[in-house]
Amino acid sequence: MPDNRPIYALIPACGTDTHAELALMAEARKLADRRGGHAHVLMAGSDTEHAVAQARAAGLDHAWHMATPIDLQVHQYVDVFATALQTPGLADGLREALVLVIANPDNEALAGALAARLGGAPLGRCTGFVFDEPGGIAAQRSAYGNRLDITLSANAGPAIAAVRPQAQPSNQDRPTEIHSLEACDARAAYPVNTVPRTEPHAALEGASIVVSGGRGSGEAAFPALYELAAKVGGAVGASLPAVDAGWAPVTRQIGISGKYVSPHIYVAVGISGTPQHLAGIDPHTRIVAINKDADANIFNVAQIGVVAEWQSLIPALIQALEISPAR
Ligand SMILES: Cc1cc2nc3c(=O)[nH]c(=O)nc-3n(C[C@H](O)[C@H](O)[C@H](O)COP(=O)(O)OP(=O)(O)OC[C@H]3O[C@@H](n4cnc5c(N)ncnc54)[C@H](O)[C@@H]3O)c2cc1C
Repeated sequence: MPDNRPIYALIPACGTDTHAELALMAEARKLADRRGGHAHVLMAGSDTEHAVAQARAAGLDHAWHMATPIDLQVHQYVDVFATALQTPGLADGLREALVLVIANPDNEALAGALAARLGGAPLGRCTGFVFDEPGGIAAQRSAYGNRLDITLSANAGPAIAAVRPQAQPSNQDRPTEIHSLEACDARAAYPVNTVPRTEPHAALEGASIVVSGGRGSGEAAFPALYELAAKVGGAVGASLPAVDAGWAPVTRQIGISGKYVSPHIYVAVGISGTPQHLAGIDPHTRIVAINKDADANIFNVAQIGVVAEWQSLIPALIQALEISPAR
């Protein structure tokens, strides 16, 4: 009988984060048990052996693995997985499948592109799922930086969700069927070499202090913001207009169409505090706002607000830190 309630765990570049990969497989097992279908993992990478062993440990019903010469780019994984998902055994339950990826920017781009290719539903970053009797899927997720909880109903399959897997494998002693797939040709050429770009400034990801500039800070502020961030062990972020103007790279954009950050302290300089920008800041983050307009919305969410032009404050702050360095 065809399985019309399967859960697929999708793992590109397997072996990159074995801890999260095992947790994703355990999550797929748990959800498949709740939904009453089979748990599959579909993985691609240059070394799939370890991931196959993990699929056994997680008690998955099926492990589909595919060797690629080296780890690929996101758009290539879209090709590779879209083709692999047409394999009999995977294709049969695809329309009804809930497909899971580990939440990170690359996988979320993969999930969106794959949903478009397969005519499925991209659910975004989800925190929970409810399955109903006819096999429907409702996904729970937050929006606007955890300020709103929403429930999405996936009425076109497959439903593709990014999750932060927490599940532990429970030693269920179930047999796992292992399937080796032909590595299909990705549309674009395989990269033969990848060289990470080096950036002179600290990365935004994981920073405990973020100093961000906006339209009001202007281009002139950014060297000072980088200096201030370096002095306090933080990283620089930017609003969309600052990125659009070319004052900061797009990798530093914070907001609904940029990155989501959760530092302890967020210093907003010349940023008005629109919902689109605040959506990129964790609600538990403490905001320090520097803005010349006392009525700016940012002061409604800031714990500390200074009504001032940045020019009168930021250089003085840097100087003060030179005299008494931050610990
Ligand atoms: C679909 C969509 C997605 C979007 N995604 C994002 C996103 O991801 N991130 C994002 O940031 N925006 C996003 N936006 C844009 C968003 O709507 C706002 O336009 C943007 O957030 C405003 O950026 P800002 O605060 O830098 O500029 P403004 O709103 O123009 O604010 C500038 C502030 O600087 C202050 N100021 C001026 N001069 C000084 C000075 N000398 N010293 C101190 N303060 C000064 C002003 O008082 C003002 O409050 C999106 C919009 C749309 C429609």
